Amino acid sequence: MSKPQDYFRYSQKELSTEGVPLEKLAREFGTPLYVYSREAFLRPLRTLQQGLEEIRPLVCFAVKANSNLSVLRLLQEEGAGMDLVSLGEMKRAILAGTPVGRIVFSGVGKSDAEIEEALKHSIHSFNVESTAELARLSELAQKKGKVAPVALRFNPDVNPKTHPYISTGLKRNKFGLNRKEIVAIARSANEYPGVSLRGLSIHIGSQILSLSPFDEAFRKLTDLAIELDELLSEPLEFLDLGGGLGITYGREKPPTIENYCKTVLKHFGRKSRLYGRYRILLEPGRTLAGNAGVLLTRVLYRKKRDKKDFLVVDAAMNDLLRPSLYGSHHGIVALQERIEKAKRIRTDVVGPVCESSDCFASDRLLSSKLDSGDYVAILSAGAYGMSMSSSYNTRNRPAEVLVSKGVYRLIRKRETFEDQVRLEIGKGLS
Ligand SMILES: *Cc1c(COP(=O)(O)O)cnc(C)c1O
Repeated sequence: MSKPQDYFRYSQKELSTEGVPLEKLAREFGTPLYVYSREAFLRPLRTLQQGLEEIRPLVCFAVKANSNLSVLRLLQEEGAGMDLVSLGEMKRAILAGTPVGRIVFSGVGKSDAEIEEALKHSIHSFNVESTAELARLSELAQKKGKVAPVALRFNPDVNPKTHPYISTGLKRNKFGLNRKEIVAIARSANEYPGVSLRGLSIHIGSQILSLSPFDEAFRKLTDLAIELDELLSEPLEFLDLGGGLGITYGREKPPTIENYCKTVLKHFGRKSRLYGRYRILLEPGRTLAGNAGVLLTRVLYRKKRDKKDFLVVDAAMNDLLRPSLYGSHHGIVALQERIEKAKRIRTDVVGPVCESSDCFASDRLLSSKLDSGDYVAILSAGAYGMSMSSSYNTRNRPAEVLVSKGVYRLIRKRETFEDQVRLEIGKGLS
């Protein structure tokens, strides 16, 4: 289980990571600023790799969780592959040095241009989500004289009991193919000469907080794989178990990575009936990145009201969308321990954007001492933070810093106004 305080703790009265006080970074690079700990990315990856050593899975990081090139590089150097959902993500993965054989291309709506570009590289697989996509992929591959390696994404109709926006494995969701569709494809596999059916994939949702949905989905997946192997001329080579294991943002108690591994091993490990039959792939995103980063922001104003105060900070929903999009919880702490320890009062933490949903916390008990010029960290912001950011309100997207063992590097510069308007050319119609 990854917790916000594992790598971001007070040391000599200042919130720090890997020996670097965060306020130093906030002053040097300005705010809002994303700060990541290298070790915090690697620890959960290594725990997964070690917990599953007996089946040596290919762990593909879900690039959409955090797409910074330096982050991708550090994960691929540790043996990770990449799970992508767009051509842009594929280019990032390759630029970061990922061997193409460790790349899987997921997503419900791959365009011709994306498919054609991906066909140029020998990626591990296209995770196909509809019969129409399979036909199109086959056609495009054939034109190029290629055979595309394919995993069919199975929607196992399992309830992951998570936020509806991040639930993906239910019948009513847009994702994947159902059992009937997959069996029909397997029966007519020769109608798709441009593809080779190599595997099945699932991904039932995100921020999943119990093992039972995984257990149920893995069971349905293996049943289907066995059924398909009887229909296909060549048996399947791999099963891709997706991502989705939750992390602690506040009070959640997600399963530990070790216990998640035990569930995987129950189905695919040495003692399972399927041991050695299929290569196993995983696609964790949040599990690796969520608690590897924080968003630093400066308090602009304290605004006093009868029942509570507002802290207006210099970060906003464009920098970190999750609270506005999902109503999700992020811990918020002062960078100075002396401020954090002061008396607490009911507080809303809000950004400057002109939307009432631009709110990082409401009715939260926070230090009454926080005032203009003080810094706070919005915790657990390493996944779906910077990667979901926008320049709404013509705000420049934040800079990003990576810390490792007392050393830090700027890994993305702060966006500038010029960056933003560069593509808006001419004078319109006037
Ligand atoms: C988003 C996504 C993931 C990663 O999900 P997490 O909850 O971040 O682990 C994995 N696989 C696919 C296909 C995805 O779309």
